[in-house]
Amino acid sequence: MGRLDDLGDADGWRCWLCDEPVDPDMSVNDSRGASADAITTAAKAKGAKSKGKGAASVVGTERLAHRGCNTKKGAIAAEVLWSPDLFVVDPAPILMSVERLGRKGGREIMARCPTEGDAEDAAAWLIDRLSRLTPELAVNASVEPGGGQFMVVLSA
Ligand SMILES: [Zn+2]
Repeated sequence: MGRLDDLGDADGWRCWLCDEPVDPDMSVNDSRGASADAITTAAKAKGAKSKGKGAASVVGTERLAHRGCNTKKGAIAAEVLWSPDLFVVDPAPILMSVERLGRKGGREIMARCPTEGDAEDAAAWLIDRLSRLTPELAVNASVEPGGGQFMVVLSA
């Protein structure tokens, strides 16, 4: 249990996939209990393989996840979902975009929004989410008008 405790402390006892709290006292056999999730499987499944040596992972190799969230992803790649409260069009896959930013830097257009207010809400949500998902990655979110809509842009 020592390893899970370390992981939990590092991740603030929050599931990296669903962003909800993990109870350290819950049995690890419970679906809401703690488990270690290997983040590198996500990068591999997205085809980020063999660019040079060792596929870069977003942060370290393991993150804290609920057992249920961890098991659920099974063979499919881990996915970090956008909040259903946001009004975004064409939302980019968060994990893949952030992984690319961490590897290459630059800019990623994360979503388009019909109004500037929606875009600002989405940008604020993203920065808050990423502060826990990838605390090591320094990113800025900005809102840029384009094509009659407002783009949410992350830059690293
Ligand atoms: Zn979870």
